[in-house]
Amino acid sequence: MIERIADSSVEEATGLVPAGVAAQIKQVKQDSPVSVQADQPEDNELENSLRPTDFKSYIGQQRLKKNLKLAIDAARKRSEPLDHVLLYGPPGLGKTTMANVIANEMGAQIRITSGPAIERAGDLASMLTNLGEGDVLFIDEIHRLNRTVEEVLYSAMEDFKLDIILGKGPSARSLRLDVPKFTLIGATTRAGALAAPLRDRFGITHRLEFYTDEEMQQVIERAAGILNAQIKPEAARQLAERSRLTPRIANRLLKRVRDYADINGDGIIDTIISRKALELLEVDSLGLDPADRMILAAIIDSYNGGPVGIETIAALTAEERSTIEDFIEPYLMQMGLLERTPRGRRVTHKAYKHLGKPTPTV
Ligand code: ADP
Repeated sequence: MIERIADSSVEEATGLVPAGVAAQIKQVKQDSPVSVQADQPEDNELENSLRPTDFKSYIGQQRLKKNLKLAIDAARKRSEPLDHVLLYGPPGLGKTTMANVIANEMGAQIRITSGPAIERAGDLASMLTNLGEGDVLFIDEIHRLNRTVEEVLYSAMEDFKLDIILGKGPSARSLRLDVPKFTLIGATTRAGALAAPLRDRFGITHRLEFYTDEEMQQVIERAAGILNAQIKPEAARQLAERSRLTPRIANRLLKRVRDYADINGDGIIDTIISRKALELLEVDSLGLDPADRMILAAIIDSYNGGPVGIETIAALTAEERSTIEDFIEPYLMQMGLLERTPRGRRVTHKAYKHLGKPTPTV
């Protein structure tokens, strides 16, 4: 197995990455305006204010909604909690939002946590015992739960029992506790990283798909309405096409474009304003940011377009392998710019064309 090398200077020293490229890309990444991570409080506030709360206002994902509606109606009819639900797919597509919608549609309370936040089995036990009958426990990044916690979760999911060990050594004894009948909603960017016994305990498993341009336009127009931003339909369409088919990115771009319109115009977002703002943000016609373009360019320039291993791309971009796999790569593949082959990733002719580079003749 290949060891992942995290430090860019090591990558350069080992010759895995052409000298200077890693540092250059790292800088671009840091300056990038379109990050999917919502780590600023301002972003969290924005997300919460824009979250749809019911199926009607939740745009797109028709197949998921149809299946969930049916399951919810059936559960309600039987006065039972909904089966456990696993939602997976790239970040920002609406997994957390859907968990809230489900709880709302079930008339249940929701408790939100994440895999890495539940450090000990006791943390999980106190969370579960504090739930009410029929409540929803949402665990984001569920693939990052630690093994001990995961094992306690199995019996809680299956027969609503908690097996707790009290004390240590010879005086230790086990205790079996009842927990209220709850619904677990797990979200993950990588269903493959989930242990099989955990995956099997979900009754409903669904992948969230990228949105269409039309759906993205609706997302933007809805968000503009809530934010009191005036946007022309053609400008909404332009933003839609450059938002990586991802609502979280759309909301973030909309906010920045609105700022630009307030400062450089009369507050109304038309195509001229949105194009200029997007140019300033260095988001191109396909929604790629400088880091995406540099990844593609580096594969072309340093590796003849590939195939090149994911580890090398990670080293090249000074990016976590998981960020590439979960966020960057799915969109590049969706847009037909990058493809996966048995020997690694390869850029497509469309990528050469988009970057204005001559396509190879063979
Ligand atoms: P994830 O949990 O998949 O990373 P979120 O559920 O946090 O994504 O969604 C990010 C933001 O995108 C939310 O705050 C919400 O405003 C918006 N959003 C997501 N899905 C939709 C949708 N289907 N319709 C409208 N807005 C959406």
